[in-house]
Amino acid sequence: MLSGTGNCIGYGIGKAKVQAGQNRNIQKTVVEYPEAELARFDAAYEATKITVQALLDREVEDTGTDGEKIFETHLAFLDDPGFVDAIRDMISEDAVNAEWAVREVGERLALMLSQIDSEIIKERSADIRDLYITLLDHLDGNVAVDEPEKDDKSGRKVLVVEELIPSYVIRLNKGEVAGLVAEKGNITSHAAILAKLKCIPAIVGVCGLMDAVKTGDLILADTFSGEVYINPDEQTQTRITCAAECYETEQCACDAEKAEDAITADGTRVIIEANIGTPAEATLADEACAEGIGLFRSEFLFMENRTLPDEEKQFLAYREAAEKMGTREVVIRTMDIGGDKPAPGLPLPAEQNPFLGLRAIRLSLQRKDLFMTQLRAILRASAFGNVAIMFPMISSMEELRDAKAVLEEAKASLAAEEIAFCASVKVGMMVEIPATVTMSDLFAHEVDFFSIGTNDLIQYTLAADRINQAVAPLYTAYHPAVLRQIALVAKNGHLSGIETAICGEAASDPLLLPFFVGVGIDRLSMSPNLVPTAKRGVRRCRDYACKQLAQSVMMLSTATEVKQALLAYQESCKES
Ligand code: PEP
Ligand code: MG
Repeated sequence: MLSGTGNCIGYGIGKAKVQAGQNRNIQKTVVEYPEAELARFDAAYEATKITVQALLDREVEDTGTDGEKIFETHLAFLDDPGFVDAIRDMISEDAVNAEWAVREVGERLALMLSQIDSEIIKERSADIRDLYITLLDHLDGNVAVDEPEKDDKSGRKVLVVEELIPSYVIRLNKGEVAGLVAEKGNITSHAAILAKLKCIPAIVGVCGLMDAVKTGDLILADTFSGEVYINPDEQTQTRITCAAECYETEQCACDAEKAEDAITADGTRVIIEANIGTPAEATLADEACAEGIGLFRSEFLFMENRTLPDEEKQFLAYREAAEKMGTREVVIRTMDIGGDKPAPGLPLPAEQNPFLGLRAIRLSLQRKDLFMTQLRAILRASAFGNVAIMFPMISSMEELRDAKAVLEEAKASLAAEEIAFCASVKVGMMVEIPATVTMSDLFAHEVDFFSIGTNDLIQYTLAADRINQAVAPLYTAYHPAVLRQIALVAKNGHLSGIETAICGEAASDPLLLPFFVGVGIDRLSMSPNLVPTAKRGVRRCRDYACKQLAQSVMMLSTATEVKQALLAYQESCKES
């Protein structure tokens, strides 16, 4: 058994199919006629362009995934003379085989990109690997690039790869792939997020995977525990297969009821919403019967382009999401740039501690020109739907008041130009810094709603960097200090008559759901495909029992005890 980090959407069971990827066996060969190799490369290059364009065209027709951007990036690399000429130069100057040159140049570029201290640029290194693998496939005459992984008689396969690559994931269909397991990678990578969007169980960061597995091995991947069993004994097979069957039955039931409201057995309504990063994802939210968009991470519009999106471009994106959701609320969070989310069009000086640095609202208040542009775009979109504005990473009252003052300026400028907007647009704030939790009684008088960002609240409360694997065991939502803070925010919100939402990853944790109900959280916002499960989870709750559970776990002293108590509660619910 090996382990990694799973995407918590079920079990991947099937025969392994190990993908050679960049590690295929390529020998360096000195060739007598480099011109012939150049001709082979040129043919593969042209064929790759056609393949990538075909994939791009297919993605343009689909909505709700990020495929377009991926294949646009591939075409950009193919059009980049720096990349293509380096391969051609190596073939002709070193007189080597085309395969060798493609992998050498591709790997060097991928390595260089992966060493840059930016998550987004690191993602580009996966793109370049993806692209040169396609080139190699064409050189090998082994082009299955437009073919999804088909079932064979032995059933669906678990794909075993060194690294999850976005365009590879995007071609896969849940019905055709049992699961994905990767030796490298982080669960927050673009490719892993795509697997989650496609509902494909995936586990990444599995050390030793490529050495341990060969094609045909039986793989059982539990994405909840992150455990990957290779040719396990019968007892383990029975245990995991039973768990998978229960999970599937439960999912079908959730899906069948997804249009129903999330109301506890004794009548408390919890609004279940979706998090999105692009307007296209609003379609997924709608299909999942999300009751609104609890978090539109607007920074993704800034991260995907080399230039900053202007007011019109932003307006169109926000309006699209607002229109898709109709009367349902769409909470647009102003740009949360910085930390692990750089915007290529807004280069920032390197910082020692980016998560404690110039990030989110701090940057917006420093760049009031950009902030104003964004607020005008959001306000304009508010005339086309039920839009609310939210400020990220507020740490002091001055920041909140300054942000609201810029919002008033934006309103005044639109009014002066007679441009329509909703004057009573709701204004909320992220509660993700312990200082704002402590002062949430005062903040509650100044905003229309709170939204707790547990991803950051955990890291700032426990001083455990959210993207540092070395401190991953310290980073947990089950820590009593985190739970007490969530309860305090909800209580202070209610005392002032405002709603409290949770939009961090913890919002979709089924173990924590009864706790959230027990402390009176009003809204939960999560990845669209998890919405039906959360709705059903709420319907199974009873207020009284949840309140008791919440009170008792907050008296516990360790995260382990909390998790055990939550698990015990979950088991007791199954029995009753
Ligand atoms: C959070 O911090 O929980 C959150 C939702 O925001 P982000 O993950 O974008 O920082
Ligand atoms: Mg955050």
